[in-house]
Amino acid sequence: MANNAPEQSHRNDEDKMVTINVKDYVDIPEPKPRGPGGRPPDPRVVQLAIRCYKRDDPKKATVFRCIGTNSGCRSAWVTAKRSKQRVLNHAASCEHIPCDLREQLDGGLAKTAPSAKLHPSNGANMAPASASMMSHRVGSKGPSKPSHNPDPSQPSVYNLAKKTRLDNLTAQLDADIVQFFCVGGLAPSKANLPQWKTIWQHAVPSYNPASASKLEEYHIPSEAAFVRTKQLEHLWTCVNLSITFDGQKIHSPQSVYTIHIITPDREVYLFDGNEASEESHTADHLFQVLDTVCS
Ligand SMILES: [Zn+2]
Repeated sequence: MANNAPEQSHRNDEDKMVTINVKDYVDIPEPKPRGPGGRPPDPRVVQLAIRCYKRDDPKKATVFRCIGTNSGCRSAWVTAKRSKQRVLNHAASCEHIPCDLREQLDGGLAKTAPSAKLHPSNGANMAPASASMMSHRVGSKGPSKPSHNPDPSQPSVYNLAKKTRLDNLTAQLDADIVQFFCVGGLAPSKANLPQWKTIWQHAVPSYNPASASKLEEYHIPSEAAFVRTKQLEHLWTCVNLSITFDGQKIHSPQSVYTIHIITPDREVYLFDGNEASEESHTADHLFQVLDTVCS
């Protein structure tokens, strides 16, 4: 790159995501902790976002580059401190992350997915969101509100039950919405339409639907990690699996290779998508991608 400015940025806050050429950056070691106290950084995040600076930047401003930049990713963050959630969520959808790190990451992220919060053990596994779950029912099935609380120092059972029901409803609706956007192939930006928010305000005034950036940066990546984890758990139990791959163009337009795994019962799982960059067209690269999936 000819100048010090990042090639591209789409955020104006301190934590700017930029597109980089890894060759222009110099890695630097992590600073030693200044003393006892303070929370140590999450080792996964330290592995995923490598501290560096741009070679020709006289100020040597701190940049964190995705570890996938070693093998094709171009994402980095110009920031003094890593944003854990942003790094984890990028890594969840970055196809250049080393396989072992990806699996570790999926396991952690999957637990935060909207659908993961619907596990029967937390009592939130309700039927799909429907009119029957609207707010007017939230208070109708629980314990009736006592006329007075005999001991004001004790938390009210009514309030606790109400909070649990609202938390469960929020978890269910978050999961329903992320599935609606993903299965429908809708742009997350639709979640910022005032009309979308109005629907929810009328239907469930107590519910605050995720914004486009929350969907894009938190809910969708964690849901994808959840699906990948479940898929892998299931495929481990199968034998005689077949693998297929094919190149195609998506709307962007961008070429991608998709890799499917088919079980003997003819269930087809989309296992991976690999961006077809120039490198991807070589037989060696395709072999590498398939070999990674097979292992
Ligand atoms: Zn990346």
